Formats: sequence, C-alpha cells, structure tokens
Amino acid sequence: AAIDVAGLARRVVARFQQQSRQQLEVLLPDKLLALANAESLEHALLALLSNANKYAPANTVVTIAGEQHGRRVELSVADRGPGIPDNEKKRVFDRFYRLDASRSKAISGTGLGLAITRRLITLSGGTITVLDNHPQGSRFVITLKAPNSENL
Ligand code: ATP
Repeated sequence: AAIDVAGLARRVVARFQQQSRQQLEVLLPDKLLALANAESLEHALLALLSNANKYAPANTVVTIAGEQHGRRVELSVADRGPGIPDNEKKRVFDRFYRLDASRSKAISGTGLGLAITRRLITLSGGTITVLDNHPQGSRFVITLKAPNSENL
C-alpha cells in the first residue's frame, strides 16, 4: 500500500532521538508517498539509526533524508563514521558478517541487523544499498517505488 514514508521516518527519528549519541538531522518533505510495508520500513530505519549510533562517533551528524526521483522514492541514513570499504559493501548485508574494525573495537553485535533489514525491504518491494558518504562515513539508501494513480 502507499504510505507517507516522510511521516513514518519522522516518527522513527523522534522515538530514537533520546538514545542517539549523535545529532540527528532530518531532511524530509512534508509528505512523501511510497509503496512499502510500514512495520518493515520502521524496523529498517531503526536498524540503520542504531548502526550509525554504534559505529559513528558521538556528537557527529547523522542525516535522515528522503526524496522522490521520478518513479523512485529514496530514504537514506548517512553518518560520519569510519565508512565501509568498497570490497565489504556487499558483504555487510550477509548474515553474521561484521567488519574486522567493529570486532576489534569490541562493539557488540550479531551481524544480523542488516541481513534482516535487507530481507524486509526486499519483501516489501524495495532495495537497500550502501554508498560512501562525503566527506566521510557511509550512506545507506532504501529505494522504494512511488505509487502510481492505481495504488493511491
Ligand atoms: P546487530 O545485528 O546486532 O546490529 P551488527 O551491527 O554487527 O549487529 P549489522 O547491522 O548487520 O550487524 O552490520 C554488519 C556489519 O556492518 C557491522 O558489524 C559493521 O561492521 C558494519 N556496519 C554496519 N553499519 C555500519 C555503519 N553505519 N558504519 C560502519 N560500519 C557499519
């Protein structure tokens, strides 16, 4: 179904705010309709915010953005943490996969969060990828379909 993903993202951010070590910056339009499952998308955004929280330093900026590009709607969570090397970008979505840097810093985690997130996003008709954030960090992008007149 078509849901307002901007409203959903704002609610997730509001709920996460108290536990965040970073400054959450929100760049969202008033309304942004996309085809998605609300619970899956909430879970996904929480997983991305909690990863940013774990892996990026305190007091840096984490940007939650959303925009429509033609028939696609993109929601992104960008941090200014250590980033993810190109040769690891695909693997962070694999079950139990964790970067050595995270293990050696003894940041706790199971390596399941992103695998579950990717499964949920795929099941609700979207995709998720990770890119470099500039000048530093990683930017996770969830791409959803914009509704056409039939599913509004
Ligand atoms: P959990 O599932 O308990 O959250 P996790 O954080 O280890 O554990 P994932 O969320 O699947 O698991 O992430 C997999 C790995 O990808 C992490 O262990 C970390 O090495 C890397 N990673 C994820 N998000 C980021 C990020 N924002 N910045 C840098 N590395 C990240």
